[in-house]
Amino acid sequence: AQFFDALGDVQSDSLLALIAMANADPRTDKIDVGVGVYRDGVGNTPILRAVKAAEKLLWEQQQTKSYIGGFGDKRYTELLRPIVLGRHAGDDRIIGLHTPGGCGALSLGFKLIATAHADAKVHVGTPTWPNHIPVVEAAGLNISEYRFYDKLETRIRFDEMISTFGSAPKGDVVLLHGCCHNPTGADLDEGQWREVVDVVSSRGLIPLVDIAYQGLGRGFAEDAAGLHLLLDACDEVVIAQSCDKNFGVYRDRVGSMFLKTATADGTKRAMDHVVQIAREMWSMPPDHGAAAVRIVLDTPELRSDWDAEVGEMRARINRIRGQIAASDPRLAYIGGQFGMFSMLPLSKEQVVKLREQHAIYMADSGRFNVIGMADHAVDRFIGAVIEAMN
Ligand code: PMP
Repeated sequence: AQFFDALGDVQSDSLLALIAMANADPRTDKIDVGVGVYRDGVGNTPILRAVKAAEKLLWEQQQTKSYIGGFGDKRYTELLRPIVLGRHAGDDRIIGLHTPGGCGALSLGFKLIATAHADAKVHVGTPTWPNHIPVVEAAGLNISEYRFYDKLETRIRFDEMISTFGSAPKGDVVLLHGCCHNPTGADLDEGQWREVVDVVSSRGLIPLVDIAYQGLGRGFAEDAAGLHLLLDACDEVVIAQSCDKNFGVYRDRVGSMFLKTATADGTKRAMDHVVQIAREMWSMPPDHGAAAVRIVLDTPELRSDWDAEVGEMRARINRIRGQIAASDPRLAYIGGQFGMFSMLPLSKEQVVKLREQHAIYMADSGRFNVIGMADHAVDRFIGAVIEAMN
């Protein structure tokens, strides 16, 4: 046998397989609502105008591509602070670092937690973004799952969430979605956030907030409101942030990790560990995307154009949500959810039927990208889903 024959088969991410299947389907009217990227009314995932303009400026002005150091682009994380941290932006107990996307931030956050407490347990609500599980496991941490969402009843199992947190011992970690929950679209409302914050802070749990879709739900401040309540109440918070969706720079891998501890010195010391962990994994984050984001945020005209573009994306998401919600009482819940994803109360067999009979591609779980389809395809999508539910 050869050396690498020792490797077994990978349990591949079923979403990647779904994308491949959709691409291979020759039917011209196919609808791919599996992949998790923004699409506009004609089905494209365009480069934002503000980002394109910033890249031009970058090309004209950049003098060197020498190394930028372990923290990455510091001006970029500085400019993100008011957006991500809101009223906590000036808190010197919070320090940020530029990462390769939200994934890089999650890896760093969990590895930092494992460096501090190798036996920490992470409470993860199911369903969650599938990659959360391997990222937590790769950090060597234990996972404890609780049921977050009931797909058939189309609601958050809030009591279960609160009782799980309410019986967790001090020092346990809770993974929370900041907004636009992936894969369900089911966000906590303000009252629910307050209850979560109460139980997390009173029991001494460590929240890790994954905020990958800020601005695409209700608005920038609204989408981070729960995170800001947590920062009001908790001395120790880890934040994994992504600009990949709200700047549409997915492949450029743009994110950040923020850490709050009880003291500015404590956070500095912990961030030295974070830089060291990053050094082992990727040494330094890729510069290009974050540099473009920095230029957008630092240039008033580009910044207001970007704001408008995010507003357009958000409006399209919420318009299509409204259209689906109005089509059938059983789909009304979709109008009260946020972000790019919701989950249909369909069985795997029904999902497969949609694929075979209607060339509609969504995850086996019934998760679909609400803006994955062009405007002209929405009615056909709704008709096929209602037929599948009947
Ligand atoms: N968290 C969630 C909930 C996500 O959906 C994603 C991307 N699909 C990420 C993090 C990671 O984003 P990025 O592409 O920036 O690594």
